[in-house]
Order: sequence, then structure tokens, then C-alpha cells
Amino acid sequence: MRKLLKDNLRGIVVVVAPERRKRPHEGRDEGFVCPFCPGNEAMTPPEIMRVPERGAWKVRVFPNKYPIVEGHEVIVDSPDHDADLDTMDEEHLNLLMGVWRRRLEAHSSRPYVILFRNYGLGAGASISHPHTQLVPLDVVPEIPGRESERLREGACLLCGDYAHVVATAGGYAVGVPHVQTLPYETWIFPLSHERTFSGDPPFGRILSRLIGALKGEFGVREYNLVLHQAPRGYDYHWHLEVMPRLGKFAGFELGTGMRVLHYSREEFVERLRRALQLP
Ligand SMILES: [Zn+2]
Ligand SMILES: [Zn+2]
Ligand SMILES: [Zn+2]
Repeated sequence: MRKLLKDNLRGIVVVVAPERRKRPHEGRDEGFVCPFCPGNEAMTPPEIMRVPERGAWKVRVFPNKYPIVEGHEVIVDSPDHDADLDTMDEEHLNLLMGVWRRRLEAHSSRPYVILFRNYGLGAGASISHPHTQLVPLDVVPEIPGRESERLREGACLLCGDYAHVVATAGGYAVGVPHVQTLPYETWIFPLSHERTFSGDPPFGRILSRLIGALKGEFGVREYNLVLHQAPRGYDYHWHLEVMPRLGKFAGFELGTGMRVLHYSREEFVERLRRALQLP
């Protein structure tokens, strides 16, 4: 088991995982061969799951070869190296969302499990082949822990007016947080108060359209997705945070913890509403 270090001045938790240095890196390694492409399955650890079970796979799951902590999994979202959520068809999206849900459920006995997706080398991905990751944790991290206090039934900010709703479809909302902490940050969440991710249709299609709109209208090329759901034993209102990565944090952001936006939320809501074509 890894050691978690908590800085006693700033309260930030650090995981020391030296073998992460050995990760292959598409943008750096000469003669890089993608371990996530069909035909290269032997380059990854043994599979946990593949869909469909027989024939050519559409989604594969296996342990991360260079885990942050034990139980760290990789979900290869598509056999297509150049695909992204906005290029996948609806059937594939629904299948992928089902895999996300099943892998989250598989770790539900752990205090917390975080699912995230880094798209683009500048968003922290070392391999550009579309993939999602899942990390079970033995502690409830600070951000979901703090959110759980404000997302409890009866006092839930997401059931209230925390997010400015841009559009709704099939029981889900696309909404802009009260204050965006990154340019063009947008969330998707169920309109009803639900603790854990379901991802039932049309969630996949909404996510796909949102990514398409952020790319087409706002020039987003790289982004992170973070799925926040209930820590074990807590109430919550799950949500997916889409965090475009357009700039880097500079001295001001690192030194103050504050962020800078170069437009108003109203302006963004207006543009996104026009660009977003929901089913
Ligand atoms: Zn690939
Ligand atoms: Zn709620
Ligand atoms: Zn959150």
C-alpha cells in the first residue's frame, strides 16, 4: 500500500509513486507504440473486462501498469486511437457509460473512488489513445469530502440554484457552476438527487454533444473530466465536471489559490446555449 503524505502547513496530500516515472509517453518517447491499440493487448496487464466478451472489443479494462495506488484501472474507451467522445456513435457511448458505472460499482466497498479522463497531452495524458481511469482510495479526498457537506438531500446546492442550467434532456442538466474555476468549466448532473453515477441514456449523448460544442465553439483541444459521486456512507448529488485546459496555472494562481477568468458567466451561458444541440 502506498504512503500518503499530508503537508502539515498546507494540508495538501501527496502520493509518492516513483514507478510512475516509467510510464511510456507518446509525446516524448521515440518509436512509441500505443499499448491501447487493437493488436497490442499483450502490452497491457491482464484484462479485468472487455466488451463485447467475444470478437473485436469496443471497450477494455485492465489494471494500470503504473498505478497511483493499488486498484488503479484503465478503461480504453474505443479501439480507435484518434476517437474522442464527440466522435463516438450513440451505441458506443451507451456501452462506455455502462462500463464506467460497472467499474465504479465494483469498488463501492472502498471509502472513495474517483473516475477521471485526461484528453490531450497538455491535460496530463501520457498516451493520446482515448481512455478513462479509475482510482479507488482508502480516504475521502478533500474536494469530494467538502462537496458532500453541500450536496446532502434537503440542503443540496445542485437541487437548488448553484448551477446555471443551460439545457436539459432526459432527466439531466448541462449547467455552469456558480463560479467557474477554469475557463468554460461545465457540469452535467441528474435533475433528481442521486448519490451514485447511473449514466443511463441519453447521458452519453449529452456528454458527447457538450464536448463537441466546447471544441467547435470555444476552441477547446484538451480537457479533463472528473466524476464526483458519493463517498461510501455519505449522501451526495453526483455530477460530471468538464474542465477544459486552455492555459496553465501561473504564479498568481499557484501563490494565491485564486483563478482568473477572461469573460463573464452570462456571456459563456449565452454562447454555449446557442452551440449546444441537445437530443
Ligand atoms: Zn492507440
Ligand atoms: Zn441534490
Ligand atoms: Zn464536484
